[in-house]
Amino acid sequence: MSISGNTKLIYVIGNPISHSLSPAMHNTALNAQNLDIVYLPLKLTLETLPAFCQNIKNSNILGANVTIPFKEAIIPYLDTLSDEAQVIGAVNTLQVKDDQLIGHNTDAMGFYNHLIDATKFIPSSQTVALLGAGGAAKAIAYILLKKGIQTLHIINRNLNRADTLKKQLSPHLETGQNISVHESGQNTEETVLPTCGLIINTTPLGMTPDCDSTPTQSNAWCHQEQIVYDTIYTPEKTQWLKSCEEKGATICNGLGMLIGQGVLSYNLFTGQEADPKLFKSGIEAVLWKKKI
Ligand code: NAP
Repeated sequence: MSISGNTKLIYVIGNPISHSLSPAMHNTALNAQNLDIVYLPLKLTLETLPAFCQNIKNSNILGANVTIPFKEAIIPYLDTLSDEAQVIGAVNTLQVKDDQLIGHNTDAMGFYNHLIDATKFIPSSQTVALLGAGGAAKAIAYILLKKGIQTLHIINRNLNRADTLKKQLSPHLETGQNISVHESGQNTEETVLPTCGLIINTTPLGMTPDCDSTPTQSNAWCHQEQIVYDTIYTPEKTQWLKSCEEKGATICNGLGMLIGQGVLSYNLFTGQEADPKLFKSGIEAVLWKKKI
């Protein structure tokens, strides 16, 4: 890669940022397509975020990915939001277009595209359980309801947070769709989870280095007609996924969601299609080096 005075920039902004796999993913694709663009990590604070948003417009910066803790905090500094980002209330991609700073959320479609590719899930008439009610859960709940699932169970440690998410999504429900909320625990595992065709973990329980934790107390609810999706991708297969695989469920980790959101962001930044295989090879090079 050669950097010149014409080189354009894309950032991933967050705090901390050193753990991000996005530079490895995007730079692998940018290099392969021979684009004069570099993708860089940028650590910001809540105090420096507004200036970044102000200065990005009249610069050689094409856009940025946004990660923890700025996905919601950045919204007041943007000119417009995509429909998805508006309803989800979180932004993971900034696009500079015609001197406007536009906020998008590609986490939702990134997840959905991967789910469909990997499992052939058909949303209509489905009952789905979401474990967790934070940022990732919001995006996933939004897209699954938009694609036509019938029933969404939001199961969270903090019931108020699950209720807030229900209230946020309820105005967008179609006739026949419904959302219910539950506190995590054995009772919910016995009564709700066995009835679901798709169960998704959006909590960090089981993520490296906390590999022994699981988002459900047991796998007694699990059976072979279910798809079990863990948004975690380090380790590659969490204890939870392993235990559901043993019960015959179809399992998926979150690497495809990470790649899926990245590919969609790349298209917004560059106008080019990225090959997901290039993103995957960029990530694997970093994960392999770290021996996760
Ligand atoms: P977040 O907004 O902080 O939400 C975290 C959720 O997990 C909340 O519902 C929280 O429950 C629950 N939780 C946290 N610690 C818990 C514990 N010890 N016991 C029970 N519940 C707990 O975080 P997020 O942005 O949604 O990210 C969550 C996870 O999703 C990440 O760790 C990551 O693995 C995954 N993720 C993956 C991708 C991908 O591309 N694959 C993208 C985004 C996120 P309370 O409300 O009770 O606190």
